Amino acid sequence: MNERQLSERLVQVATYVPKGARVADIGSDHAYLPCYLCLQDPELSAIAGEVNEGPFQSALKQVIKVGLKDRIEVRKGNGLKVLEKGEVNTITIAGMGGGLIATILDEGKEKLEGVTTLILQPNVSADLIRKWLRNNSWSLISEDILEEDEKIYEILVAHRGDDSDLYQENSEQKLLLGPFLMKECNSTFKKKWNCELVNWKRIVTEFEKATTNEQVEQKRKDLLNQIKMVEEVLECQS
Ligand code: SAM
Repeated sequence: MNERQLSERLVQVATYVPKGARVADIGSDHAYLPCYLCLQDPELSAIAGEVNEGPFQSALKQVIKVGLKDRIEVRKGNGLKVLEKGEVNTITIAGMGGGLIATILDEGKEKLEGVTTLILQPNVSADLIRKWLRNNSWSLISEDILEEDEKIYEILVAHRGDDSDLYQENSEQKLLLGPFLMKECNSTFKKKWNCELVNWKRIVTEFEKATTNEQVEQKRKDLLNQIKMVEEVLECQS
């Protein structure tokens, strides 16, 4: 992978970045995404944020190598702390767990002033991001799912606004599976959730064999509820 030949996952993230945007890519590692965006769009500028020294240095080197020092600022720090209010209008956070992405957004809420577009690519637990968006007046406007190197990734795009209409019915199911993804129900979506079902059913069987306590019993019930929700969606779309 390099700044011109991105992973398919990051290329897909890039397609949602508005033309001429002022972007912050948080957890930027080699800064491949901001470099790619700037090479594609001469009007775009970016901040690459990184909390860890190694990836921060890699991002700095990459930006210098590609000659984009004037358009990409690499900053070291935790989450949105690297930003000043109003500096960017678009934030990308890719390649982390959904829980971490939601924490970064939550801890940096005040830095979201002036931000109009969030493009979030969790590796797991996208439901935690949907919940955060819903509780914080961000409206999910698009979702994507793709498979690369035998891993399945989701992309969530949000604008400011209220999307309670989207979640009016079956909200628990939609938060887990994604309202747009479950409507489209493409083969990658089916593959992801069929794999989850196999995994969850195996855990439920293990719980049933184990000596139970209140915590295990609650976890078993939660998993059975999730299995039911996923099976309902996969069945009605098959
Ligand atoms: N965004 C790139 C991608 O999608 O290929 C890199 C993903 S890499 C797996 C995650 C990066 O996020 C790491 O470089 C890590 O150091 C950084 N990171 C993790 N937590 C962070 C935080 N709270 N603030 C900024 N960067 C963070």
